[in-house]
Amino acid sequence: MPLPTPAYAAMTAGSALTPFAIERRTPRAGDVQIAIRYCGVCHSDIHQARGEWGGGLFPMVPGHEIVGHVSAVGAAVTRFAVGDAVGVGCFVDSCRHCDACQAGEEQFCREGMTATYNSLERDGRTPTHGGYSTRIVVDEAYVLRVPPAIPLDRAAPLLCAGITTYSPLRRFGVQAGHRVAVVGLGGLGHMGVKLAKAMGANVTVLSTSPSKRDDALQLGADEFAATGDKGTFKRLARRFDFILDTVSAAHDYNAYLNLLERDGTMVLVGLPDQPVPLSAAPLIMGRRRLAGSLIGGIRETQEMLDFCAAHGIAADIEPIPIGRINEAYERMIRGDVRYRFVIDCASFG
Ligand code: NAP
Ligand code: ZN
Ligand code: ZN
Repeated sequence: MPLPTPAYAAMTAGSALTPFAIERRTPRAGDVQIAIRYCGVCHSDIHQARGEWGGGLFPMVPGHEIVGHVSAVGAAVTRFAVGDAVGVGCFVDSCRHCDACQAGEEQFCREGMTATYNSLERDGRTPTHGGYSTRIVVDEAYVLRVPPAIPLDRAAPLLCAGITTYSPLRRFGVQAGHRVAVVGLGGLGHMGVKLAKAMGANVTVLSTSPSKRDDALQLGADEFAATGDKGTFKRLARRFDFILDTVSAAHDYNAYLNLLERDGTMVLVGLPDQPVPLSAAPLIMGRRRLAGSLIGGIRETQEMLDFCAAHGIAADIEPIPIGRINEAYERMIRGDVRYRFVIDCASFG
């Protein structure tokens, strides 16, 4: 018997989110059923609910920063028990046999990961629905353990914003003493500051919002620079070993590349809907690198959660009831988020 579950959905691309009843599957042998307590609101939810990346499966129930407690387990489940604090991130399945899956990089599955929402199950026809709801059923291989040291509501954003910033910092070898810039102080950006700081880097925030200066320093940044100030790009030229660009809207990458030191790397994680012209000069003049990064695999996501627990790191959040989700989207688009909206799923009627 499928399990009727309340949710919020965008019925068509760009429409306001409204109540929508979904059905979750009854747990199969390897499944974990989760009572969702909190779900973070990622800018990717907005991009997809508004069809900004093209296409999209509607009705769409967004949400891929899911935390809650296990409420039932299938007969073959070995790693989780009822009552455990768990999380689900951006994907809920993958082929499990390709080289990427075998390497624990399921986000790059050759057959395509099954995204938590706006995707199809492996059967190729059942749509997936995300965490703006009260319950989800996921194979245990794609479920994360939330360490008890992290408050559950402040853990939710780690499942996307946390891993998306942790993974490139690790992969590109950010170390103690490196000079790191984080561009954009939103959900991803504020996690990038905390994580880079915990890895020992010297961190500068580059932001369009001068009003975020005090917060940036409070979050652990060593420096804050307003990108609207004319002098910023001159003053910080060739300053950084590594730049993490989390900006959600189109902006000039060339200007930021000039802030890299020789052999420095800029990694894009922000995924604006519009392309931006790229000039070869700032890459050539300094042998700089421009790269991208996509969330992280299950193993690395667990590593990130454990790292956060060990370093006392959690997201800074503004809890909201689901009824305020459309307003939260508008505020995020204005850059007015400090620093992640998290839906309290007790607010579903
Ligand atoms: P967010 O909370 O809305 O933060 C984005 C920040 O970008 C804003 O707070 C603002 O910071 C800055 N910004 C916004 N508009 C800007 C503009 N026009 N020019 C310059 N800066 C601007 O968004 P998020 O949830 O952190 O997500 C950020 C981006 O990452 C989105 O595109 C999302 O889809 C993408 N994403 C990618 C991955 C991945 O795996 N690669 C994973 C998750 C999300 P300031 O006020 O400081 O300027
Ligand atoms: Zn996300
Ligand atoms: Zn695969």
